[in-house]
Amino acid sequence: MAKESILVVEDEDDIRELLRYNLEKEGYQVVPAATGEEALQAVRGRLPDLILLDLMLPGLDGLEVCRSIKGAAATRHLPLVMLTAKGEEADIVTGLELGADDYITKPFSPRVLLARVRAALRRRSLPLPAADAPLKIDDLVIHPGRHEVLLAGTPLNLTATEFRLLHLLVRKPGWVFTRSQIVNAIHGHDYPVSDRSIDVQIVSLRKKLGEAGSRLETIRGIGYRYKE
Ligand code: CA
Repeated sequence: MAKESILVVEDEDDIRELLRYNLEKEGYQVVPAATGEEALQAVRGRLPDLILLDLMLPGLDGLEVCRSIKGAAATRHLPLVMLTAKGEEADIVTGLELGADDYITKPFSPRVLLARVRAALRRRSLPLPAADAPLKIDDLVIHPGRHEVLLAGTPLNLTATEFRLLHLLVRKPGWVFTRSQIVNAIHGHDYPVSDRSIDVQIVSLRKKLGEAGSRLETIRGIGYRYKE
C-alpha cells in the first residue's frame, strides 16, 4: 500500500522538522511547506491525504489557506487539522466553521499528534451514517425515525431539540462542533435556539444522560463534542 501523504504547513523550521520526524517515523510521507503560498501550490500539484496547517503564518495566513482549500470543490474533502497556539480560540472557531476537521494546540506531544492524525484519516474513510439510520455507540442507541434514544436499554425522555443535539454530536464522534455550527444544524422548532441556549440544552441533556453525560465534552471557548 502506498504511504499516506501529509502536507505539513509550518513556517518555524524546528517545529516543521519535529512534525516531519514524528510523522515519517510512523510511516507517513511528509510534504513540507513553509508558507501558505507554498502549501496551496503543493495541493495544486498533488493532493495529499491530510493537511496539517499552522494558523500563524507570515504572508497568507492559515485561515486564508483553510478558506481556500475548504472552498474549492477539488480539495474540500481533504482532512485538515489546524496547528494553533494557546489563546487562539477565536481562530479555531473560524477554522472549524470554514470546514477544518480538527485542531492541535502547541506545544503538542507526539502521541497526541499521531492520535489526531490517525483519527482524522480514519474518519475520512468512514461514510457519515445516513440521517435516518439507527446509531449505536457505547451503550446508546438512537433511532432518528422514531425520535427515540435508549441508554443501556432504557428510553430517555428528550425534547425535540435535545434529541437533535445529541444526534448531531453522536453522528460524528470525536468531532468538535462550534456553537454556531450546532445552532445551524438543529434549528429549534420547540425552542428558539441561540449560541447561549445550546449551553443550556447541553446541561439538560447531560442531566438526562446521567453518568453518560460526561461524554458530552465542553471544549472551552470553542464548542462541544461527543468523546470518542
Ligand atoms: Ca507559525
